[in-house]
This record gives sequence, C-alpha cells and structure tokens, in this order.
Amino acid sequence: MADFDVEYDLIVVGGGASGKSAALIAARAGKSVVLLEKMPETGGLSVYAEGTAAFESVEQQERKTPRLSKYHFPTKAEGIEKFMSYSHQRASYEVVKAFVENSAETISIYRDLGVEYKAVDIAAEDDPNELWTFHLPEGLGAHCQEVLLDAIEKLDVDIFTSTPVKELISENGKVVGVVADSDGAPLRIGGKAVILATGGMGSSPDRIAQYSWFAQSAHNMNVLTPLQNVGDGLDLALSVGADPNTITTCPLLAAGGRDMTMDSQCGGAGVNPGVWINRNGKRFAAESVAENIGDIGIYFGKQPGGIVWSILDQAYIDRLTHEGSEIAIGEFVVYHKPMARLTTELEAAIDSGLVKKADTVEDLGVQMGVPVESFVSTIDEYNDACREQCDRAYGKKPQYLRPIAQAPFFAIPLATGTMGSAGGIRVNEHMQVLDADYMPIDGLYAVGLDATGLYGDTYNMEIPGAANGFAHTSGRIAARHAIAQMA
Ligand SMILES: Cc1cc2nc3c(=O)[nH]c(=O)nc-3n(C[C@H](O)[C@H](O)[C@H](O)COP(=O)(O)OP(=O)(O)OC[C@H]3O[C@@H](n4cnc5c(N)ncnc54)[C@H](O)[C@@H]3O)c2cc1C
Repeated sequence: MADFDVEYDLIVVGGGASGKSAALIAARAGKSVVLLEKMPETGGLSVYAEGTAAFESVEQQERKTPRLSKYHFPTKAEGIEKFMSYSHQRASYEVVKAFVENSAETISIYRDLGVEYKAVDIAAEDDPNELWTFHLPEGLGAHCQEVLLDAIEKLDVDIFTSTPVKELISENGKVVGVVADSDGAPLRIGGKAVILATGGMGSSPDRIAQYSWFAQSAHNMNVLTPLQNVGDGLDLALSVGADPNTITTCPLLAAGGRDMTMDSQCGGAGVNPGVWINRNGKRFAAESVAENIGDIGIYFGKQPGGIVWSILDQAYIDRLTHEGSEIAIGEFVVYHKPMARLTTELEAAIDSGLVKKADTVEDLGVQMGVPVESFVSTIDEYNDACREQCDRAYGKKPQYLRPIAQAPFFAIPLATGTMGSAGGIRVNEHMQVLDADYMPIDGLYAVGLDATGLYGDTYNMEIPGAANGFAHTSGRIAARHAIAQMA
C-alpha cells in the first residue's frame, strides 16, 4: 500500500479552465479536492481566451438569431457534423459528442456565477464556414478565471500554487496518487482519481516539431503560450501506460507580426490581405484566406522556415489607419476600426529593424534578404493582376486586389503563432486516459488541451472557441465520471 502525506478524493493537476471546472464539480458534490498548479498563480492559458464555444446555450436561445441574420446558431447535430467533417473523420466521435452535448452548461454555470455575455459571434467578420459558437464574456477569459477561482476557493478546494506534479503513483494498475514538488521536497498526495489538466505542449517547439506536421516552422513560430505548458501531462500519462501511438498534436494556430503581440496594429496590418511573400521572394496564397485566422496560420506554417513577409504600400497603410482592418481577429484586430496606433508602431518597428521600409521594391527586397529578382517579378505580376482585377496565380478575391504602387513600401515580418497545442493523450467519452488497447487506465483522466479527440491535424477555427469550451466541458465530464466511480 502506498503511503501518502495527505489524501483527497480528487487530485486535479493544473489550474486553468479545465482543472478549475473539474474542481468545481467535485467540490459541489461534497468531495475533498486538491488542485496543484505549477505556477505561482492559477489560470494558465485560459486567462488569454476570448470566446468559449457552446451549442444550444441559453445565450443562443435568448438571442434567437446571430448578428448577421442570414446565419443561424448551430444545433448540436450541426456541431458534431462539423467537427467530424473538418477533421476528415480523424476526431473521436465519442469525445466530440460528449463535448458538444454538454457544452451549453459552461455558459449557464458562468451566468449563475455572475458573468455576463456581450455577444455570441464568430471570430471573423463574415465567414460563411464558421459556426456561431463564440460566446464572448465581459472581461473575457481573465475575468472568467477569476470568477471560477473565487467559486472553488469558497468551496474549500485546497489550491497549492508553485507545486508542479512530477510523478503519478499507481498500484495494481490503478492511479492512486501523485508526487508533487513542494519547495523542492516531494509531497506524496493520495487520491481516488487524478485529472491531468496541464494545458498541452504548445510552449515546446521541439515537441510541436516532433508530434505535429509543423516540423518545418515549429522553431520559428510566435509562441503566445505561457512557457510552462510543455507537455507535463503527456509525460505523466505515458509513465503509467497511456497509448503512445496517439501522440499527434495540433498547434492552436493564430498568425500575426513576428515578435509582436496579438493586439499589435503593426502585426494586424500585416495579416490583412495585402501581399504575402515567403523567403524565396514568392507569393504562396490567395491572401483573402486572411478572413480566417486559423487558415492564415496554416499557410504561414507551411512556408520554408516559417518565414513570411507582408508587403504594403503607403496607400494601404493610409487606408488601414483611417478606415481600419479589412479582416477581424476576434477582439485583437477589430473589423473596420481605424488603426490609430499603426504609424507610431510602424515607425518604432522600423527603428528597431523589425519592419523594413524602402522607396523602391528592389531596395525592399534587398533589406528583406529575399532573392530580389524573384521578388520584383512577383510584385510586377501581382500589380498586373490588380490592373486586370483577376489573380490568375492564386485566385485572390478581387475586392482585395490593390497594386503595390505608392512609395514608400513596407515589409512586415509575420509568423504563425501558437496559442497552445491540442492533443497527445487518447481519452474516451468520460475523459478516461486509454492504453494502447483503448482500455481505460483506472483512476486517470485527461482534459482540456492535454486530451486528444476534437481535431485532426489542425485546430478547428470554424468552431470558434472550441479549445476553451472543451477545456471547461471536459473538466466537468471527467469530474462527474470520477465521482460516480467513488460512490
Ligand atoms: C492569446 C491566446 C488567445 C486564446 N484565445 C482563445 C479563444 O478565444 N478561444 C478558445 O477556445 N481558446 C483560446 N485560446 C486557448 C485557450 O486558452 C485554451 O484552449 C484553454 O483555455 C486551455 O485550457 P486548459 O485548462 O487546457 O489549459 P491552461 O489554461 O493552460 O491550464 C493548464 C495549467 O496547468 C498548469 N501546469 C502545467 N504543468 C503542470 C504540472 N506539471 N503540475 C501542475 N500544473 C501544471 C499550467 O501552469 C496551467 O496553469 C487562446 C490562447 C491564447 C494564448
């Protein structure tokens, strides 16, 4: 029999949306719960989330129709179908169904805790492929995390911060506890179940390179993830026999200015549908894909070395400054809101050498370090396409075809951004961790970004808010199942 320093009914490893949601359910059921968090504060990636996906929620029902009345709020059946078809059936039907059918409760719980929702939207301005699932709370993810923390503290969940879990303890094939690092000393904690909620491996470029199809660009991405999310949950699960064959992950992709924040107007200008050039001096996409941020990330991630430049002329900068962005990236880049900070940010970035500025296209190419001949002919061909209002090379939508004509010219460096990773640990519909024979490992669950099941090889931006919605929902599902086993 393993001996422990302290024992609880439930041990939750990680204090983001998924871990806190699990703790809430178990504590409400009267179970003793400990939540162990690696960092000095809980919240993880979840504090950065804007929207939360849910289907047939009370907010959707009350609003009846979306902001654009030609669309509708999706049914659960439409949600399930979308996850499966978007992933080319690689998603787990059981996990998808469990998420979609239980997702609305997240919104009801937050409303009961006093959170107000300002919109149920999509991430882009008008993307016919997106489902209207993006529930945007006042105060966004940061506020939700505060509210959830307050709720579990009031329910006497024991929360230990700066206490990373290092090992799982198992006995006769059942996980019965963890070893955490408490001020450098091992703390052995016993529990009837352990829920892994450590937020995936998005901050480990090595693991993204190894386990996703972004090997080419993994080391050149903007890591927008807190640095602690490096795959601890995966290591812990593998140590007790989790299926090693499921370790594929997909980065949660965004795109923006290289080494710039998500709300940088310089980066926001760059991901507008100007002209995108790779390090070979060539275009590689119909820049109208900028209408979907996930698609931009994929296109950038496919380029050699993940290197991309956005080419804009002064006329484009003026239009963005006065008329605003032509695309929306949630609340980071707001559709048609004048970019008042753009010129100041550009000047600072030019001074620091990040953004290049030149009076001729040739000189711009030299400064960018791309093959100049190839670059100049690419821009010439693009300008011809603008004159003809027909992009034979990539089929860019004509409304975005504007020539690179008015000096000075600017080159803004862009990058795929990772907002986390999803997947690695195979789970069933109860979020139980599965072994190589797809049999549950007794006492062990994985939730949120640690769990595999919703995606194929790319994040699904056509169901905006899926990662955060799943984090909350999967935490509750795991906790309920674990509690039922304790009875
Ligand atoms: C800029 C940005 C914007 C985003 N916007 C959205 C959005 O609008 N909608 C959306 O759906 N998603 C969004 N996401 C992703 C979203 O935040 C996550 O999908 C989700 O909330 C993650 O929840 P989680 O509980 O799985 O992980 P996290 O919230 O990261 O929680 C994991 C926790 O585990 C802790 N931990 C790690 N290792 C250990 C260990 N060994 N022991 C103990 N604790 C450990 C971490 O410190 C962390 O606190 C965004 C992400 C970023 C970066």
